[in-house]
Amino acid sequence: MRALARIDAGAIARNTARMAQAAGGAAVCAVVKSDGYGHGAVTAARAVLEGGATSLAVAAAEEARELRAAGIEARLLVMGALDAEELAVALDADADVVAWTEGFLDALPASARAHVKLDTGMGRMGTRDPELATRLAERAGERLAGLMTHFATADELGDTFMDEQLGRFRAWVDPLRERFPGAVVHAANSAATLRDAATHFDMVRPGIAVYGMDPFGEDPFAQGLEPALTLTTQVLAVKDVAAGESAGYGRRFVAREPTQLATLPIGYGDGWRRALTNNADVLIGGSRHPLVGTVSMDNITVDVGIGSGVSVGDEAVLVGAQGPERILAEEVAKRLGTINYEVTCALTPRVVRA
Ligand SMILES: *Cc1c(COP(=O)(O)O)cnc(C)c1O
Repeated sequence: MRALARIDAGAIARNTARMAQAAGGAAVCAVVKSDGYGHGAVTAARAVLEGGATSLAVAAAEEARELRAAGIEARLLVMGALDAEELAVALDADADVVAWTEGFLDALPASARAHVKLDTGMGRMGTRDPELATRLAERAGERLAGLMTHFATADELGDTFMDEQLGRFRAWVDPLRERFPGAVVHAANSAATLRDAATHFDMVRPGIAVYGMDPFGEDPFAQGLEPALTLTTQVLAVKDVAAGESAGYGRRFVAREPTQLATLPIGYGDGWRRALTNNADVLIGGSRHPLVGTVSMDNITVDVGIGSGVSVGDEAVLVGAQGPERILAEEVAKRLGTINYEVTCALTPRVVRA
């Protein structure tokens, strides 16, 4: 066996319950886009529903179709922009969709459900014009299901822009809530949900947190979250290396003293990024060892030292706990100069999910 991502569905359920608690009385629409942030969309969907989510959100119409094909019956929101073909797929999956233009709204059949989106500062999707957004809500009539926005800086502590966005959203949505009591008002991602109760409204849309990763990039346990993904592989070879000998493409590692290298069958073809060259730790035998040399497409090498007792077949943990040690996705993200989201989303289909 090569690389395995073990998914703890119980942890996803408990993280969802934790987010429901953080959300006070607001409903939880858990986000399972991008194959459940790399955890497997169907596994994630079942687990979040178990944990108390009342609906699911994805980015793409195809993701909605996939969940329906797996027998998931929960209410679904497709958050992304949809062309005519994708809209047909989303509606066929009986998903709610997001609208911010008259043309899109007019293309919706009477049975469709639309969430009107105001761009309060994300600068991506949604209309920036609150008057147009109000006209869309009126025009939607029976099809109006929600009123929404999305924050750009909820994960940045000490930031004031989220409050600005919240102010713009409130100015638009507060008067509308009375006129459209059936519309669900929602704005908060994971970070906003944890950061400020004023962002909760009727429903929150947490993604990263339900997978047990910290939206602020710090320690998820400090937020009461449990990482749900453990990435493991096994030692396929152990070899003695003399001082001056090298390993991997470009000889990016040259042994300064005699040591032992373990070879592991995971590489950038699995999503274990090449930028982790000489820049990650791996847990083997309950201790940390440095990844040395270049990350190849299919393999990496780890300096386990002399007398480590590491042998072929030993389990190696790249993300997760082994004995007293733990490597968080947040640690890997910091080494890569990216965010935890990208670490798990990067895992390719070659990594077996179980
Ligand atoms: C991805 C996404 C979310 C979830 O964000 P997290 O930071 O993962 O909690 C919520 N809303 C929208 C519109 C999104 O695109």
